[in-house]
Amino acid sequence: MINLEKKNQTENNLASRFVIGADVEREILANAGIIQDDTAFVEKRLEPVACPRCKTRNSHDSQYCNVCSMVLNEKAAVQISDSLETAQVSSDYAALLMALRRDLGMKS
Ligand SMILES: [Zn+2]
Repeated sequence: MINLEKKNQTENNLASRFVIGADVEREILANAGIIQDDTAFVEKRLEPVACPRCKTRNSHDSQYCNVCSMVLNEKAAVQISDSLETAQVSSDYAALLMALRRDLGMKS
């Protein structure tokens, strides 16, 4: 039992040494100008995205808020804008809009 704990501890130390080694290696390569140090960028990219409207924290890759459907990134906003433009020039946009309003019980 004690031996097993000691073995695990050794493996943990070894694992953390490899992680630290990778950080040092990245820093050396970045200082030498061989790679760009993107640690901050990668960490920031994986952070949850707070919704500007309802403050819900959404996963880093969410395009829309899970609670209020607010657009969370520029790519999704552009996609919506493009789709709207396409829909507005289509010949049956007005008819579809009227049908939708009627179905929802809205006055046209
Ligand atoms: Zn929201």
